[in-house]
Amino acid sequence: MHVDDVEAPDGMDAAGAADTPAGAAMRADAPDAAMRADAPAGAAAAPDAAMLVGAASGATPAGTAMRADVAAAIRGAGLRVTDSRVAVFEALRSSPHASADAVFGRVAPELEHPSLQSVYNALNDFADAGLVRRIEPAGRPQLFELRVGDNHHHLVCTGCGVVVDVDCVVGEAPCLSPSSARGFVVREAEVTFWGMCAACAASAV
Ligand SMILES: [Zn+2]
Ligand SMILES: [Zn+2]
Repeated sequence: MHVDDVEAPDGMDAAGAADTPAGAAMRADAPDAAMRADAPAGAAAAPDAAMLVGAASGATPAGTAMRADVAAAIRGAGLRVTDSRVAVFEALRSSPHASADAVFGRVAPELEHPSLQSVYNALNDFADAGLVRRIEPAGRPQLFELRVGDNHHHLVCTGCGVVVDVDCVVGEAPCLSPSSARGFVVREAEVTFWGMCAACAASAV
C-alpha cells in the first residue's frame, strides 16, 4: 500500500475531511508504521500489521466509534464483518441513493483489493438482510440507501438526476390506497415524484 492510497479517501470524502489534522497525519503515517512492523518478523507479523492499518484508519476516537458502530450494524444483521462491507456501509452513510458504481468509486481507494463484484455482493447482502433499501427510479441504475423501514418516498430531478428523500406522510406502508384494490392485499406504495430540483428549475428559466 502506498501513502497515496491512504490519503486519497481524505480528499474525496466529506466525512474524512472533517477529521482533525492530527487524525489525518496519523493516517498518513500508518503505512510506514505497518511496513516497519512487517519488516523484521516477516509473515508472522503480517496480521498485526494489517490490524495496525485497520486501527489507524479509524485513528480519531470518533472514527473508531463509527467503525465499531458500523461493525455492530453489520453483525446485527447476521453478516460477517469484512473490510469491504464496512467500507460499503460507510460510503452509503455519506452518500445515500448511490449506485453500485458510485459506491465502488468511493471505496476503491480504501480497499487493498477493490472489486466491483464485491461491492455488488455487499450491497445485495445488505439489502437481503434488510440493512439497505434498493430503489429503482425508471431509467436509472439501482440505487442503495441506509434509510430503511420508514416507508419514505423520493423526489427525482429529471435535470441533474439528484434523488431526495421525502417523508411518508402516514409513516407506515401502504400510505396510499388504490381507488380499487381489485382484490389485492396491498402491502406498500412506492412513490417517485419526478420534476426539477430548485437549482435545475432556476437555470431552466
Ligand atoms: Zn436538478
Ligand atoms: Zn431515500
